[in-house]
Amino acid sequence: MPLFPLLQPDLILGNSVLAITPEILTRYQIHGLVLDVDDTIVPIGNAVIQPELAVWIEEIRQIVPMWLVTNNPSQVRIGAIADSLSLPYFLSAAKPSRRRLRQAVTEMKIEPARVAMVGDRIFTDVLGGNRMGMFTILIEPIVNIDSTLGFNLLRRIEFAIAWILGVSLAPTK
Ligand SMILES: [Mg+2]
Repeated sequence: MPLFPLLQPDLILGNSVLAITPEILTRYQIHGLVLDVDDTIVPIGNAVIQPELAVWIEEIRQIVPMWLVTNNPSQVRIGAIADSLSLPYFLSAAKPSRRRLRQAVTEMKIEPARVAMVGDRIFTDVLGGNRMGMFTILIEPIVNIDSTLGFNLLRRIEFAIAWILGVSLAPTK
């Protein structure tokens, strides 16, 4: 039992969001997805949807409903991303606050434990999702093919703190 169970993801993919397959949804009985935006479905600062992501969204939305819940406050950028994917969204969600997560789950009319919170960050996405009683999936950031950056220092620091606190961060087998 980890010392801080609210920081422990239920599933650690070790891969981007694109690795969430229909088979995984079935295996973990996930009936809805709440997706983080920055570094989860688009590289941070980027508003361009990669074709692979669009294909993945179209495949998964046939199976489960999806919402975007982001801490990002940009109506212009997040609105454009959500509109191009035809997904409902909440901005400025202040995760790990439960408020917007609860609203998204309520809109889906699915019990929280059957909705997965999917994100790249432990102290916002995973903590918020676990506080809400959701299934939590930690993914690797989606790669920006136009950038060599691909490395988020704050994310690395969070991982180090979580590891010190006893959170297991090895990809789930
Ligand atoms: Mg993120």
